[in-house]
Amino acid sequence: MNPIKKKITIFDQNIHLNIPSKCQFCNAILPQNSEVLAEGYTSDSLGRFSEHGKYFLLLKCPFCESIITDLFSILPENPLIKKFRSYAPLKKQSVKISNEMFPSQIQNISPRFISIYNQSLKAEKNGLNELTGMGYRKALEFLVKDYAIYLYPTEEVKIQKMSLQNALAKLDTQSIKILGQVSIKIGNDETHYYKKHDWDIADMKSYISTICTFILSDLNFREATDRLKQDHQLKD
Ligand SMILES: [Zn+2]
Repeated sequence: MNPIKKKITIFDQNIHLNIPSKCQFCNAILPQNSEVLAEGYTSDSLGRFSEHGKYFLLLKCPFCESIITDLFSILPENPLIKKFRSYAPLKKQSVKISNEMFPSQIQNISPRFISIYNQSLKAEKNGLNELTGMGYRKALEFLVKDYAIYLYPTEEVKIQKMSLQNALAKLDTQSIKILGQVSIKIGNDETHYYKKHDWDIADMKSYISTICTFILSDLNFREATDRLKQDHQLKD
């Protein structure tokens, strides 16, 4: 089955496309002179240094009248030169849900927090808005309790069984306490029938992210303090 050959021009450069000639919907073979309903180039900004993007084509199957979308990757010859490759490969699109990245110190203290947070993010991106708030509330609980356990390892079992409020109270950092308390209130609103505040899940996510920043700041401060102490001891 021969593809439908087409030549396009992007930024004065000729690029060849091989359009699949089989209709994705009824399996009919499309004629070589099939009408293109719409086409165009869209530039992508992520990933490569040089210009690159996608070329899209809309065709109509003359047999089943379905609208067929074809995408081609427009790629530079190599990342440092402006010349495009003369042949554009067909591009398949897939659903992309990327995880939120957290610093390695947070990963070490609470891997479950990161796992629950990213599951909640996936639920949010899939439109499961009745579940995401509860998910972020659970992620927050793991973050706070794991950090409290990190600070007070001998009290691990006790902290595990505590309420989130009490675990939060064990932390010395005032900013984490305040951010945590408001996040708990938003999380509770997302969990219960009656909503007390008009606050948003996006605010809770932002507060959780700030709590991570304060935890990192605490850890760095502790490390620097210990180093300074060791340094003084060496001099004595
Ligand atoms: Zn068809």
